[in-house]
Amino acid sequence: MQIWLDDRLVVAGSASISPLAHGLHYGTGVFEGVRAYDTPQGPALFRLQDHLDRLERGAAALAMEVDLVALHRGCLDVLAASGLKEAYLRPLVFYETGGLGLDVAGLNVRQLVAALPWRNHLGEAGEVHGVRLRTSSFRRNPSAALPPLKLCGGYVNSVLAKLEATRAGFEEALFVDATSQVVECTGENVFLVQQGRLTAVQHGDALPGITRDTIMALTGADSRPVGLEELKAADEVFLTGTSAEVSAVSALDERSWTGGPVTREVQDLYARVVRGRAETERGWLTPLIQKRAGKVTVKA
Ligand code: PMP
Repeated sequence: MQIWLDDRLVVAGSASISPLAHGLHYGTGVFEGVRAYDTPQGPALFRLQDHLDRLERGAAALAMEVDLVALHRGCLDVLAASGLKEAYLRPLVFYETGGLGLDVAGLNVRQLVAALPWRNHLGEAGEVHGVRLRTSSFRRNPSAALPPLKLCGGYVNSVLAKLEATRAGFEEALFVDATSQVVECTGENVFLVQQGRLTAVQHGDALPGITRDTIMALTGADSRPVGLEELKAADEVFLTGTSAEVSAVSALDERSWTGGPVTREVQDLYARVVRGRAETERGWLTPLIQKRAGKVTVKA
């Protein structure tokens, strides 16, 4: 497999990264997850610029200089090199060498993008049966301690919650805050359906998800804080994320749900929109191959 590293395609196994990389020791990096879908125009990246903009905000929090133009090119180059029609792209920028102190001034920055074959990371549960959630005993990183951005180190919090949930036989963990307000899951935002009305759970400690924003734009869902008891009383609950797409929830602690006609409709709509098979005209897709003035070129 080839990865794109600092503006060059290299074989992943021969990429050289220092064992003293600051990002490896302290999680001082920022990443994204971007999906490529098979559209009538060929493989295309969904909401690429929005993902890169969010990555830039994470990098800015770490005072890290990133070259977004190069990363944009890297996403297209690595997708083309992979030969995949549908893929998950992983852009990552991180501090590498220059010292192991906590002052990041002067550290060098590495930029990479990998393209991987991908299905929903929640597996069969996410795609078919619905995800079983367990309320986590862990709190989500409070935004006053760690901004809700895709900072590498912040994901240890997600890993701990996920471990707790899977050890207890569930597929995913739901974070709630100290007042039982719903925050998000380890890698997805939360929606609920009440008498046909859609609501996106809003919380200041949750990542502002791009899939959440997409579903809100497509359905007109409102966004407001939601308590755990209200979530359990909802007619349907679903999760959104670049990897999870729209995944139905079939259980939350002792509560279970079957079916979910609204969730199914939203899933189908999302699947068509990301593959350029629904009218949206929102410029969300960046095709790998762009037709310019009649000739076909790979986008630089
Ligand atoms: N919350 C967290 C903690 C996540 O890691 C993700 C995945 N990026 C999401 C929500 C969903 O965000 P998005 O729709 O932008 O992938």
